[in-house]
Amino acid sequence: MKSTKLRTGLRRWVSLVIAAVLAASLLCMGQPVVAQGLTQGDFQYQLADDGVEITRYTGDSAKVTVPETLEGQPVVGIGPAAFALNQTIEELTLPSTLEYIGDSAFLLCENLSRIEFSQSTPQVLQAGESILRNTAWWEAQPEGLVLLGGTALGWKGKAPITLVLDGRVTAVADQAFSSNYLPSASNLLRVEAGDSVQWLGSRVFAGQSSLNSAFLSDSVTHLGEGIFSGCSPDLLLETYLGSAAEAYAQIWGIRCEAVCRHDYRWYYNPQPVLGQVSTGILRCANCQEEIDQITFLTGDLTGEGCAPDENIDLLDVMALARYLVNENLPEGIYLDYQGDGCVDVLDVMTLTQYRLSVF
Ligand SMILES: [Zn+2]
Repeated sequence: MKSTKLRTGLRRWVSLVIAAVLAASLLCMGQPVVAQGLTQGDFQYQLADDGVEITRYTGDSAKVTVPETLEGQPVVGIGPAAFALNQTIEELTLPSTLEYIGDSAFLLCENLSRIEFSQSTPQVLQAGESILRNTAWWEAQPEGLVLLGGTALGWKGKAPITLVLDGRVTAVADQAFSSNYLPSASNLLRVEAGDSVQWLGSRVFAGQSSLNSAFLSDSVTHLGEGIFSGCSPDLLLETYLGSAAEAYAQIWGIRCEAVCRHDYRWYYNPQPVLGQVSTGILRCANCQEEIDQITFLTGDLTGEGCAPDENIDLLDVMALARYLVNENLPEGIYLDYQGDGCVDVLDVMTLTQYRLSVF
């Protein structure tokens, strides 16, 4: 009991200090809000790229719905500290038009316990630092990744050795796993960001001194500044050739191992002879690396066998046509009859002509 009370008191004190620092920094920044400040109801807002940004909520309702539009413009952003210090708000509905939430937008909204999106959850929601920390909502989250929609805001509980940003995650907030919020003695050794992750904020893993390997997929197109600042100097970034992460590693002087994400779709054979069994070289369409040698009967897509006159039939023409519509053929079949590096209608025509000529 006693220690809980003490911790709550301490957290409150820390929050107040943060609030004071934030207020001071906002004043120092001399925000140009005054110049273009607009108001509708309890919302102050300003123009932003592609819509408007809420700069301040001035109401005192327990249930607040941020509208999808203001003056006909989509609400795309909630600015830094827009709801900060609001002690009355308990339930918040966010618009599906939302694209970003600024630093400390809900700072010290201690009674905020419920958050929903009005229509659908934004596919990628960019988020600044310290979003929803120290709110009732945060306290109620289960241990592990803390997610708002698809945006990872941080981690609760004992840090893992390997942090996996799984298929639920599309974005990671600024500083989400930095040592400011996750103790650097946490023994976090590796992070993995899979194919769903698109946006990484700034300093996401900063100060994690034991972090020595990271995998970022080529789905990640935005990487904020200093993501790995203060991590192990031996940190190895694993990614795919040509990815944004590979370019990022070069700019930030991070050791990087980029491998080709082999595209197995295309099979090259210098002189394929339709209806003949032959050996082709399976090459990657990206790096041209030789993946394998394959033996195939060009044209027998439905796989009845190797006697060309009997086994390349109308079904094969149809199979190729179906492939062009929905790509439902298995790998390992030679499709590019034209030898021009792509499978298209001309290939269907070639196969059709072959079919006609054998009769
Ligand atoms: Zn390749």
